[in-house]
Amino acid sequence: MRRKGVKVCRKCKAIVDKKVNKCPVCGSETFTTRWEGILIIISTDSYIAKYLGINMEGDYAVKIF
Ligand SMILES: [Zn+2]
Repeated sequence: MRRKGVKVCRKCKAIVDKKVNKCPVCGSETFTTRWEGILIIISTDSYIAKYLGINMEGDYAVKIF
């Protein structure tokens, strides 16, 4: 799946704007534009967020290449 103008953090899989240089979630500076699936975390108390170790609400990629 591809969305225009976005990229995905290689470390935490957060979907961020292409203009962003540093991941707002984990501070990583490595990104990829090859990814698949969108995971929308609306609550960090949810099972899936805890399972994935996500502690900030937002959009995340399910899979990166
Ligand atoms: Zn990140």
